[in-house]
Amino acid sequence: MATCKDCGQSGFFLKIVFNGLCAECAARFSLEVPRLVEIINQSAKIVDQTKNLETGISRCDVIIAKAEELLRYERQGISVVSTPPSALIVEYQLRRKALLSALEEIKGDHFLRLDGAVYRDTPKELVPLIHTIKRASDWRNLGFKAKADKHGRYKGFTRKGTAYSFQKITKPSERQSLAIEFGKKYISNLNTIRMYNTWAPTFPLDQVVFESDDLLPLWKPEIGH
Ligand SMILES: [Zn+2]
Repeated sequence: MATCKDCGQSGFFLKIVFNGLCAECAARFSLEVPRLVEIINQSAKIVDQTKNLETGISRCDVIIAKAEELLRYERQGISVVSTPPSALIVEYQLRRKALLSALEEIKGDHFLRLDGAVYRDTPKELVPLIHTIKRASDWRNLGFKAKADKHGRYKGFTRKGTAYSFQKITKPSERQSLAIEFGKKYISNLNTIRMYNTWAPTFPLDQVVFESDDLLPLWKPEIGH
């Protein structure tokens, strides 16, 4: 006696057409499955190619929803796609999660410190900005390309052969917050101080917030020392 894998109908006169399905279910299957598979394939292509994170996320949702519709067949042991729908669901849930956190990163409008060397050839307009901390959107308003990639990293740039980078500050320390509030440079490191002392020795002390008070005496070394 034949039994249909999908509707469960059985009987001596029931004809199994293919994949263990009766004529009615087989007809529905051959109508439904290719359409779902096509939508999944198209969406997967878009997820791979799009640079728009929101598009990627919505396409992951489509894939997950369509794969869920195919799950029924997988459970019945009917093979529909080379990757089982359950595996597709897991895969695209993960990709969705990654895209979503990338999107949150970008929308987060992070604090970024512009890092880079100050020396003889440093463009004059950059000197007041280097080692200051501003929101990514503020940097963009100043004409910098401060945009996070899908890993949440901000790309730097090069001027006159020197590389500058944006350092993301996720939780500003007390002193970093002060520097942000007053638009001052934030300096935490002895080498940075040496650099300013050498190449921008006239830079005013009141434009700097130091991470440690110990660094303060190093800012302007006594002449003839
Ligand atoms: Zn059936």
